[in-house]
Amino acid sequence: MPLVSMRQLLDEAAKGGYGVGAFNVNDMEQIQAIMEAAKETNSPVIIQASRGARQFAQDRYLYHLILAASELYPEIPIAMHQDHGNSFETCKSAIELGFTSVMMDGSLKEDGKTPATFEENVEVTKRVVDYAHERGITVEGEIGVLGGVEDGHGAGGSGLEHITDPDQAVEFAERTGVDALAIAIGTSHGAYKFTKKPDGSVLKMDVLIAIHKRLPNTHLVMHGSSSVPKDLQDIVNQYGGKLKPTWGVPVEEIQLGIRNGVRKINVDTDNRLAMTGAIRKVLWESPEKFDPRDYMKPAREAMKKVVAQRMREFGQAGHGGDYKPISIEEIAKGYKNGTLSTRPLVASK
Ligand SMILES: [Zn+2]
Repeated sequence: MPLVSMRQLLDEAAKGGYGVGAFNVNDMEQIQAIMEAAKETNSPVIIQASRGARQFAQDRYLYHLILAASELYPEIPIAMHQDHGNSFETCKSAIELGFTSVMMDGSLKEDGKTPATFEENVEVTKRVVDYAHERGITVEGEIGVLGGVEDGHGAGGSGLEHITDPDQAVEFAERTGVDALAIAIGTSHGAYKFTKKPDGSVLKMDVLIAIHKRLPNTHLVMHGSSSVPKDLQDIVNQYGGKLKPTWGVPVEEIQLGIRNGVRKINVDTDNRLAMTGAIRKVLWESPEKFDPRDYMKPAREAMKKVVAQRMREFGQAGHGGDYKPISIEEIAKGYKNGTLSTRPLVASK
């Protein structure tokens, strides 16, 4: 099956009332782990690459690895997504390479660090939307700023500094026509999100619900949504790691989000922890080993387990064969003739 539009994937998820995990990749083993999990659970899937990943792997390698996945697993719909594009040019280059979806994160300036103004965000995001939709490509925007830094991207600091304002979210969705909207509700990128199990004072699920009430048909995206489970942290530390105690976003909060319009959930840290724990265990227990396959195989298996678990928890499991993928050319026509709406439904307060 050719790579599919993320818009179609999320529209279908909205119909079915489930969420779709978007898993970050940097190498072949991570792509294999995701695809095996998708096969085991019969799930549609979003594979995403950050700018850092595109640099690390050389993006043509990544593109062809994901194409290989689509050949090897023809029954599974795969959307290939640029995570946190920092500029029009980054998004354009992803589209030229063959990505079927891009995130334009205009909440930050092009340096990927300094918060941008609302008007700057609207302007650059709208420019990407116009370019992308003409080509049938999905666009995710971000309003509000997440905490933390990952892959050199992020404003740093706490996730509570720039919580999304629901009125601004409505205006942003109306003026840009984005297909999906990432919002800031107190989460952060990376492993160190919360210093204790998060409650309503640090994880603003009420803001998410308020935004969903105003924008009932807009696909919401949760970033920084690894759960950072204690058992994965423990394995890393048991075999010589030195992670400080930390808390992520509990799965039940993500599920509450899914009941309130969240359709895409970004997960990276949990997979990193799973792989690192598995690698550490092999090298700790068998220091004589030196064949990378001896530790990459268990690492891949550990990541597959986490991904499959998230696919079941997010509800995408079982939905891999629900629909026939629409070609990217047909999607482009849909944007043009209005059968694919880019005007959000707005409910009054
Ligand atoms: Zn993110």
